[in-house]
Amino acid sequence: MHLVYGGTFDPVHHGHLRMALEVSDRLGGEQVHLMPCHIPPHRGGTGASSEQRLRLLELAVDGEPQLVVDDRELRRGGASYTADTLRQLRAERGQDTPLAIIVGTDAFAGFDRWREWRAIPELAHIIIVRRPGYQLDAHGEPARLLAERGVSAPDALYDRPCGRLLALDLPLLDISATDIRARIGDGRSPRYLLPESVWREIRAQGLYSACPDRNF
Ligand code: ATP
Repeated sequence: MHLVYGGTFDPVHHGHLRMALEVSDRLGGEQVHLMPCHIPPHRGGTGASSEQRLRLLELAVDGEPQLVVDDRELRRGGASYTADTLRQLRAERGQDTPLAIIVGTDAFAGFDRWREWRAIPELAHIIIVRRPGYQLDAHGEPARLLAERGVSAPDALYDRPCGRLLALDLPLLDISATDIRARIGDGRSPRYLLPESVWREIRAQGLYSACPDRNF
């Protein structure tokens, strides 16, 4: 199984990292490939550059063998479309290897606006992590896809290379990157919401307006 967890990671925080580890644990310790997007197609610009977000991710996973960083969307350049990324991975990993993308319910709720979204289940499984406070529209395409292709146990992802959806309830941390950026911008400390090494680098680089001289 090749597990891909894409996002803006602007910046990466303990909510992302715990979620990735929980999914890995549910799938027998499989590695999770955290994949920062270069130009996110569905939202405005990022607070930090692609290279800065990648650096923060690398610091965050340092020393954790279950989590690795895949920078292919940065190397490819241009808008980061998941269908393109999965085609590239499929070509590398062969037709039979199960591939899965991991998304939160908030991201999956807009799945039918992703470019070539109908092609995505033909390339990979989708693991949907239920985030409290986010609901799928019961009549929308994402909910319909989940009803049609949903499976109840991770084992079902191993007998086929793609095409199944698994919704998981995991203990999640209520942390968001938007809130972290706002705190830093207001001069409030985000400490303990993200790894100390990440926070140190944010201050060293003055990212999100973290002023190196300020006594956080
Ligand atoms: P923002 O607050 O700026 O929207 P975010 O923290 O939601 O950012 P993204 O990088 O946009 O982070 O999200 C990447 C993926 O991580 C998405 O699938 C999202 O659902 C998931 N995610 C984000 N925060 C958490 C969290 N606290 N727990 C679990 N999953 C999360």
